[in-house]
Amino acid sequence: MRQRRPGVGMTGFASLPPVTPAEPDRDELEVLQEIHGVLAGKRFALLTGAGLSTDSGIPDYRGPGAAPRAPMTYQEFIGSPDNRQRYWARNHIGWSHLRRADPNDGHTAVARMEQRGLLTGLITQNVDRLHEDAGSRNVVDLHGRFDRVVCLACGRSYSRTLLAGVLEELNPGFLDAALAGGVVEAAPDADATVEDAALISEFVVANCPACGGTLKPDFVYFGENVPKDRVERSYAMVDSAGALLVAGSSLTVMSGLRFVRHAIKQGKEVVIINRGQTRGDDLATIKLEAGVSESLTWLEAELPAL
Ligand SMILES: [Zn+2]
Repeated sequence: MRQRRPGVGMTGFASLPPVTPAEPDRDELEVLQEIHGVLAGKRFALLTGAGLSTDSGIPDYRGPGAAPRAPMTYQEFIGSPDNRQRYWARNHIGWSHLRRADPNDGHTAVARMEQRGLLTGLITQNVDRLHEDAGSRNVVDLHGRFDRVVCLACGRSYSRTLLAGVLEELNPGFLDAALAGGVVEAAPDADATVEDAALISEFVVANCPACGGTLKPDFVYFGENVPKDRVERSYAMVDSAGALLVAGSSLTVMSGLRFVRHAIKQGKEVVIINRGQTRGDDLATIKLEAGVSESLTWLEAELPAL
């Protein structure tokens, strides 16, 4: 079931850290038993965030210990060619890192939950496509997907892999030069930190091959709305669920928090598993501060099939 992505073989990133999740400790097990009591015998909706992908080596820019970082807003992106140049230069590096990530035990547990009939659906805030790689089928990629690019003028959609080849041709030697500068920090939205302003100022951006329009990664920027059909599909997953489980999201943005509020309004129980505070803590029936991968793995093994 687990698939490995082909390596791109062109980056100088240190290899992604292999992370083996710890077993839940005694206190965590006690809370997991309570969560089991809430979820057993129900089909539930699952909402996941960046905390689930940290075990795949993708840093969470909001988790504990994460460096403060302000992603570019949609307005900044469309408002200035310089911003787009900076954005694409960084994305070119960040993407090459993200695409080498593999699903972890948490993703596998979620895919098994679906196969065993436990889920009404999966809503993810992650753009990394690791749920799909692990075998999940009924997924709403709430914030889009890193492996596609859209044209803002004509609406055509392209493979990000294809674009990588075009950017390579337009910018020979760029990746090597950027990575030679030292450690590059990548982020969950395929952004990366590059300090070399001179290097970025020479980066050549690719436009839509069909119409010459501006290309943008197919994900939802800060300051941009989640497309309506995705929101409606997500609400439907909560509507048909007996409970909502949130795993690895701090619920900082309303795009995720609204599903917690929606479930509460319907009198459904909400369970949150996340390291660190979330904006839904006050609404949750149970909140577990623990690793997401090991908690989901435990739950998948213990919950009865439906
Ligand atoms: Zn176009």
